[in-house]
Amino acid sequence: MVTSEYERRIAARFAGFDQDGNGNIDREDFMAAAKALLAEFGTAARSDKGQALYVGAEAFWQGMAGIADRDGDQRITREEFVNGAVKRLRDNPDRFAEIARPFLHAALAVAGGDAGVGVDDTSRVLRVLGVDGDLAAQAAAQLDTDGDGRIDEEEIVSAFARYFTVPE
Ligand code: CA
Ligand code: CA
Repeated sequence: MVTSEYERRIAARFAGFDQDGNGNIDREDFMAAAKALLAEFGTAARSDKGQALYVGAEAFWQGMAGIADRDGDQRITREEFVNGAVKRLRDNPDRFAEIARPFLHAALAVAGGDAGVGVDDTSRVLRVLGVDGDLAAQAAAQLDTDGDGRIDEEEIVSAFARYFTVPE
């Protein structure tokens, strides 16, 4: 079987969502991501920012399940991800942005503040979410499209949508 560059990229996106690496994307993966972010930035789960992050993670999971969990077993398999999520999100990147926005908004609040987050803290967020160290630093620098040294919500939401909708 030939693995195309496109298929490799899809596999990497799947692995990014499958935080615990058990071969499925499910609610636990989103909760694990939220928990890891709170630990990285020393934020209590019971704080307002912590609660907002869990609410955002749940909304992100529900949105992804609505798009991709075709058999309704509360797990997104690799097959469902490739044939459901990737195709449908590519057709409609704005939809993905809206699904991910509450989580990303809350993650930025945990990492920095309402005015945006520095490039270094954004790189920490990406590392916690499973992106390699060097790649995370590079990606964070690229996210700062207007070059002011801070990442704002629009920059991270649109970059995230571009990354996960995987153009062919
Ligand atoms: Ca998993
Ligand atoms: Ca399923």
